[in-house]
Amino acid sequence: MTDFTKVKANLEKRGYAVSCFATAAEAADYLDGKLDGRTIGIGGSVTVREMGLLDRLKAHNTVVSHWEGSRKEDAAFTQVYLCSVNGLAETGEMVNIDGVGNRIASTVFGHEELYLIVGRNKLASDYDGAVWRARNVASPKNAIRLQRKTPCAVKGDKCYDCNSPERLCRGMTVLWQPSNGIGRTEVVLINEDLGF
Ligand code: SF4
Repeated sequence: MTDFTKVKANLEKRGYAVSCFATAAEAADYLDGKLDGRTIGIGGSVTVREMGLLDRLKAHNTVVSHWEGSRKEDAAFTQVYLCSVNGLAETGEMVNIDGVGNRIASTVFGHEELYLIVGRNKLASDYDGAVWRARNVASPKNAIRLQRKTPCAVKGDKCYDCNSPERLCRGMTVLWQPSNGIGRTEVVLINEDLGF
């Protein structure tokens, strides 16, 4: 069982709302109960898919996701946005790496509410560890999932800072505090491994 006490306190000190759950099922119940009659953008989050949230939210919200056939751009105009992070430092910084940029753009601008849903496997002890995790754990796993022809997908062990035309990693964001371009940001911590 991961102890979220320190990271929760540090996130709250930075201005985030934080909720903690023992299981993904409990977190899914919470979000499904909270979000009703809204437009919700989901930018291809494996975490959200593993939680079974997509179908539940679709039953009583308008969900915009390229997994559901929408254009990636369309999720930028929803009231609510859901995604995860690739690395969360215990000191409170959150790191995301993106190729197209839709996901990282939506974590800093344009929504009334943002929920960052984070499994315990994303936690690192400090900022450098969170960046290292995003680059060397999350990105290679995503490259394998997307069957990219990159050295990290072939070897599956670390980032090679490649120059491949299929390189996934085109930009990285660090959230130090809730963005002024978002109405309200909540971090949902879950004591299970979820996503990459
Ligand atoms: S930069 Fe290239 S090698 Fe490194 S994780 Fe991204 S796609 Fe893989």
